[in-house]
Amino acid sequence: MHFNDKSGSPINRVNCEVNTCKFYSQGNQCTAQSIHIQPKNANNSDETDCGTFQMKA
Ligand code: SF4
Repeated sequence: MHFNDKSGSPINRVNCEVNTCKFYSQGNQCTAQSIHIQPKNANNSDETDCGTFQMKA
C-alpha cells in the first residue's frame, strides 16, 4: 500500500476538520495511513499544515 493511500481506518487522536481532503471521513476523522505535518521551526499553529492533504477528486 502506498504511503498516501487510505488506510480504511481512522487515525485515533487526530481530529481534522478539513472536509475537502480525500482522507477526511465523517466525524472529523483522518483515514490516511499516516500524516506528515510541516514545517520545521514553526512558531505557532498558523504556520503548521498537513502535508498529506490531497484535494478530493
Ligand atoms: S490527511 Fe491531513 S488534511 Fe487530510 S484528513 Fe488527514 S489530517 Fe486532515
